[in-house]
Amino acid sequence: LKENNARHMWHPMAHPADSLENPPDIITEAEGVQIVDIDGHRTVDAVGGLWNVNLGYSCAPVKAAIAAQLDRLPYYSTFRGTSNDAVIELSYMLREFFAPDGLSRAFFTSGGSDSVEVSLRLARQYHKIRGEPGRVKFLSLKKGYHGTHTLGASVNGNANFRTQYEPLMAGCHHIPAPYPYRNPFNETDPARLAQLCLAALEDEIRFQGAETIAAFIMEPVLGAGGVITPHESFMPGVREICDRHGILLIADEVITAFGRTGSWSGSRHWGVKPDLMCTAKAITNGYFPFGAVMVAEAVTEVFEQDRSGKGFIGSGYTYSGHPVGAAAAIACLKETGRLQVKDNAAARGAQLFKGLQALAAKYDVIGDLRGGHGLMCALELVSDPAAKTPIDMETIGRVQRAAYEAGAMVRVSGPNIILSPPLVLTATDVQTILSALDAGLAAAAG
Ligand code: PMP
Repeated sequence: LKENNARHMWHPMAHPADSLENPPDIITEAEGVQIVDIDGHRTVDAVGGLWNVNLGYSCAPVKAAIAAQLDRLPYYSTFRGTSNDAVIELSYMLREFFAPDGLSRAFFTSGGSDSVEVSLRLARQYHKIRGEPGRVKFLSLKKGYHGTHTLGASVNGNANFRTQYEPLMAGCHHIPAPYPYRNPFNETDPARLAQLCLAALEDEIRFQGAETIAAFIMEPVLGAGGVITPHESFMPGVREICDRHGILLIADEVITAFGRTGSWSGSRHWGVKPDLMCTAKAITNGYFPFGAVMVAEAVTEVFEQDRSGKGFIGSGYTYSGHPVGAAAAIACLKETGRLQVKDNAAARGAQLFKGLQALAAKYDVIGDLRGGHGLMCALELVSDPAAKTPIDMETIGRVQRAAYEAGAMVRVSGPNIILSPPLVLTATDVQTILSALDAGLAAAAG
């Protein structure tokens, strides 16, 4: 099996000939917050699948809901008004769930990249309907990640996810992220840095011309870019600037929605109401590929009242509103609410962050520790703390392997160790992750 994995499978985000010596290994079972590999080695999954398994792996009500839906109606399309009871119930539940964010309608997709694609398309279309067809450009953050489809890749901040596929969509411009450890302003104070980044956004809008810009897209906490957590003034500042210039604000909450930051959405965490919100991942907790773009009432109204014919939506997927995915999402939402996972995310997140602060004091290799809002943390590793030289891939691989052997699966993304465990983990699980990381970091030091 291991040989076939190395030989026949082309792994996402990997070179086809990558050595598969490091974890993740072949995972054969999962239970609660733990995964078991082909050699029978059991670890706490400190990655939560891929930031998505918020409820853990043994969610009986979700399994039962999926089985019941498979028996009753395994599939029917939701194109042009055809529907199913599961997706109708889910739409209503999502409307209730996101009511405090001012979002009222759900457009269903098959995952995060699809949600981003749909949100960008809707943004352009919104301006066309309103008689501003020149608003076609998109602004985003330099460390942002918005999936792998062509529009999403165009707004991705990391050049590695863009340059190989160019030319991508024209008219996408990136502004510096509020990342105190490394930024073009050499500003380490988060509040002052937020102001500088907001000023850069204003400059870019002036330079491009506000009348050419459709939307600004951002993650409330930047995930794949290394858990970059903006100062609390940043997202409200973005909202204010977007409002002043008639630019839509798209919150990419593929990671942050449903409790990960300790709030039900990342936008709500910062007290911001976006115009569009991309969700996926935890909406079905890994049980089904699924996503939803949540749309604000005011945006929906523009489409509803359109008499020009431009409001016809030319976006949609065969699996949009899939009844089995919808049944899974309904059960996940019920469990998410019943268990109040956001509160556990906040409490266990505080415990985890405190433990990571102790590790950061112990190991020079930790150049920067980020997180502190729910269960999303990153350690940025450096080989020379004074020069902030990013760690080499071999050493960070050693940290990951040693941590895995000591009982926790962590994720490596560039020079960062990422932690995004299930939101239902216990204080003991947090302790296991911290001791495993301690062992991993000791291996790097040794
Ligand atoms: N947006 C964000 C913020 C993400 O983190 C991701 C995936 N990690 C995506 C979009 C893309 O989601 P998917 O992999 O489900 O297509």
